[in-house]
Amino acid sequence: MTEQPKSIADDSVVTFHYKLSDAEGSVTESSDAASPVVYLHGRNNIVPGLETEMAGKQSGDKFTATVAPENGYGERNPNAVQRVPVKHLATRGPYVVGQMVGVQTREGLRQGRVVKVGHFNVDLDLNHPLAGKTLTFEIEIVDVRDATSEELAHGHAHGPEGHGHDHGHDHAGHEHHDH
Ligand code: ZN
Repeated sequence: MTEQPKSIADDSVVTFHYKLSDAEGSVTESSDAASPVVYLHGRNNIVPGLETEMAGKQSGDKFTATVAPENGYGERNPNAVQRVPVKHLATRGPYVVGQMVGVQTREGLRQGRVVKVGHFNVDLDLNHPLAGKTLTFEIEIVDVRDATSEELAHGHAHGPEGHGHDHGHDHAGHEHHDH
């Protein structure tokens, strides 16, 4: 018996490779050849514009998805550039413009890009580095399967090695939580 190939729909667990480029065509990141990304479809686990393009695709499909900022990481917020006392930075100096540093905020540790360095303060851009950018994803679907009841209860996919969680962060997916 040959099984019908599954099409991506809500509650599918999708394994895929991606290459992400910005409008200038430079590849900003990609999945590791040895470790494709796994996500649960329909639960807002990847950027909305990419999730929309994924629907209906099958294992083996290759396609390019162009995602506008409003369906990606949002528009840049000019108010997200803030002057921060150096003592609040989780990263030690000296600082250079363009560097990403950690800063303690009420919402926890965040990453900001240094835009200006002073003696006691630095100006940090707290926008997501991909905010305001049109994103081009080159996608290759590796596998499509049904979610397990545990994955549905958690709202995210579990790794191919069972319950192992990936604690990394990538721009095609969201951070996984600890159990
Ligand atoms: Zn989980």
